[in-house]
Amino acid sequence: MCEGFVLKVVEDLSKIGRTSEGGSNRLGFSKSDIEAREYILNKIKELGLTSRIDGFGNIIARYDGGSKELAAVATGSHIDTVPNGGHYDGILGVAVSLAAIKSIKEEGVALNRPVELIVFQLEESSRFGHATMGSKVMVGRDVLSKFKEAKDKEGNTLIDVLSENGLDFNKLGESKRSTDEFHSFVEVHIDQSRDLLDADKPIGVVEAISAPIRYKINIVGEAAHSGATKITDRKDALVAAAELILAVRNLALAYAEKNVIATVGDVKVYPGAMNVVPGRTEVSLDLRGSIKGFRDEASELIEDECMKIATRNSVEIEMNKISDEDPVPMDAVISSTIINAAQKLGIESINVVSGAGHDAMNMTEITRAGMIFVRNTNGMSHTPEEMVDTEDIKLLYKVLRETLVDLATQ
Ligand SMILES: [Zn+2]
Repeated sequence: MCEGFVLKVVEDLSKIGRTSEGGSNRLGFSKSDIEAREYILNKIKELGLTSRIDGFGNIIARYDGGSKELAAVATGSHIDTVPNGGHYDGILGVAVSLAAIKSIKEEGVALNRPVELIVFQLEESSRFGHATMGSKVMVGRDVLSKFKEAKDKEGNTLIDVLSENGLDFNKLGESKRSTDEFHSFVEVHIDQSRDLLDADKPIGVVEAISAPIRYKINIVGEAAHSGATKITDRKDALVAAAELILAVRNLALAYAEKNVIATVGDVKVYPGAMNVVPGRTEVSLDLRGSIKGFRDEASELIEDECMKIATRNSVEIEMNKISDEDPVPMDAVISSTIINAAQKLGIESINVVSGAGHDAMNMTEITRAGMIFVRNTNGMSHTPEEMVDTEDIKLLYKVLRETLVDLATQ
């Protein structure tokens, strides 16, 4: 029954912004995203919940199952996607939250406090280059000066896009919500790794959300003739980049047990000609970990390694740190509530760490937050292949419902 409702929502949304590769393309505030938002607003109405849209476009629906005066238990996720995204990332969290609230309401479960569903706007960074924008606005993070400059690939500014949707950038401050409004927040999400699949467990309770340190690394050598310059006389910036890429991989292997992961995702070579020894390269480095100490230790090691690579190759390496965010632990009490809910229902769960960012990490700034992951059938995300088994959806729904009832009766 409940899974029927969830599957229908997932299926209906999967048809909105459908790509030729079978994925979904719903960048925040695009035509397809607006259609999907209308769909969710209609579902909220059908369920008889009250709703409002804040100044950034976050949808906030509410079931006043208990005293309206008490702080709410909130749940939710997002429905925007990456350009050729899957049908579960974010969407499943919204669909399962709706299903849980639907059954709590229809069965008349006695609650003490209201339950809220939040559909965060612009969670994916694909349109404006910033991730989890809606929740950052909601918690009042100091981001407005950055957001003011935000533009998509077509050159549309966030300010104009908001205005086309009847929203005023200058009034975003009014969308900040206070700590008093929330009792707790629980986000449900598809596992975007193979962690639950490999552990053969349906449910993951997120202990912490990793945060990246990002570098733009500039390697300066000397461009030279590929035929006339002896191999021993070269200052080859690409050979140095190659050593760096392998060093990053070895570091990630050495720190795998400590939940640190590192990736070189982009390399640019200058001048980039077949007959010229590369004079300069630009290398990106994304280094993440759930425990700040280990992650920072790994970043120091890679900085040291860069200096050695520079000496060995007679090049200069300049490491520009472009971001350094702290990993975010989830609230221990909320996590135990989720673990107890699963245990009570006889559903197996394990603790996991999220390598990807989520709105829940911002929500920790104004309330106690937790996250529930569900097994990803093939371990793939941000692709049309993203998949969750119906049996696992049933278990996820049960765990969320039990968790919400427990929190909302406190
Ligand atoms: Zn997501």
